[in-house]
Amino acid sequence: MTGEAHDPSGRPGAATAIGERTGGARAAGAAGTLEGTGLTRVALGPGAFAYLGEHGMPNAVTVEGRDGVLVIDSLFTPRHATQLMGLLRATTDKPVVALVNTHFHGDHTLGNAAIPTDRVIAHRSVRERLSTGGAAYRELLCCVRPDLAPEIGELEFVLPTELVDDALDLDLGGLSVEIRHAGRHAHTAGDLTVYLPHLDVLVASDLVFNGILPVARDADLDGWLAVLAQLRASFQGAVLVPGHGPIGGPELLARQEAVLRTVIDAVSRHRGSRAAARAAALEEVGSLAHAGERIDAYLDLILSSEAN
Ligand SMILES: [Zn+2]
Repeated sequence: MTGEAHDPSGRPGAATAIGERTGGARAAGAAGTLEGTGLTRVALGPGAFAYLGEHGMPNAVTVEGRDGVLVIDSLFTPRHATQLMGLLRATTDKPVVALVNTHFHGDHTLGNAAIPTDRVIAHRSVRERLSTGGAAYRELLCCVRPDLAPEIGELEFVLPTELVDDALDLDLGGLSVEIRHAGRHAHTAGDLTVYLPHLDVLVASDLVFNGILPVARDADLDGWLAVLAQLRASFQGAVLVPGHGPIGGPELLARQEAVLRTVIDAVSRHRGSRAAARAAALEEVGSLAHAGERIDAYLDLILSSEAN
């Protein structure tokens, strides 16, 4: 793996304009974003692509083996997933053999209906979460993303059909991919990573955001920190595809850990006043995209755990 797809500057957001790496025939537009989709396609290696969402929208990945293609995450709506399929179909005619949902959040699962496969792989908790809490969750998403509410409001969740507890190795024909549960509650209870050994690429899902403050509504911050440290020890040279934001290297794991620790420390220093804690946290991480609207979930988690 060369560094072409990386953001060499290390600056958050600096690599969103990467174009297609594999030649001019299907080159990206001037800004690197494929026209009309809001997605930037980045080659990770032969037959493997990341599709990076603009403005903090979710990323997806496709990996092609001899037997077909694995799709990792289905984006926010069937419309987005249809765009993803259009981009994939410009690179291969092989069937989609499976879809992985890296966690239950709607921006990674609500496009499921438009990915043409019956094999939808996710952690066991994803199925429970979407089937029992589906209606309430849909309502929450409509509040968070009113611009997408007309599309989300009517959607039926397409639930996972194949549940992972700990680990699943998937043979795509000539190459295998390693699907792993994070091992404990982290960004959510059911975060999966997908490692592509033939390319040394780690699809880190929403365990890592690049240049963006992660959604923490369903997180366990201590578990998340532990998982990041473990991944950092295990993937020292890998190319890393975050759930949101540009591709990077393993430094993204350390950077995500630092962001979480910084917020925890800032809030802990001001535990007597939520307003002061909020201001202190934003002073530290306010330059990250979406920090203002997402910081309160961190305050909820940190202040409630300190109250116990
Ligand atoms: Zn996400």
